Amino acid sequence: MSIRIDSKKCVGCLKCLQVCPGSLIEEKDKKAYIKYPKDCWGCVSCVKECRFSAIDFYLGADIGGNGSTMNVVYEGSILHWNIKRSDGTVTTIDVDSKDSNKY
Ligand code: SF4
Ligand code: SF4
Repeated sequence: MSIRIDSKKCVGCLKCLQVCPGSLIEEKDKKAYIKYPKDCWGCVSCVKECRFSAIDFYLGADIGGNGSTMNVVYEGSILHWNIKRSDGTVTTIDVDSKDSNKY
């Protein structure tokens, strides 16, 4: 498992560095980059923290990902989790962060 950071979208807020439990993300030229991609265990904390949709998470073959990626787009309290498959199709799962403590 690993992530990809789009340097064009990254604004250098460095929030992803702060939440990565393995300190795998570093900063270079005011942009974030994944220094140790092989060590990523897929907690998706960085994906969720990025308000600029700059981080894609690769869905591994072990969970049937088949080259799919997932990222999140914020719209107010709603998080749109977009899963993009290699054939171009997209599935979106919407989560309202206001409900996160509901269950
Ligand atoms: S959280 Fe997103 S915008 Fe901020 S540094 Fe990380 S990748 Fe860049
Ligand atoms: S998915 Fe988790 S372990 Fe992997 S880089 Fe992001 S915060 Fe770190």
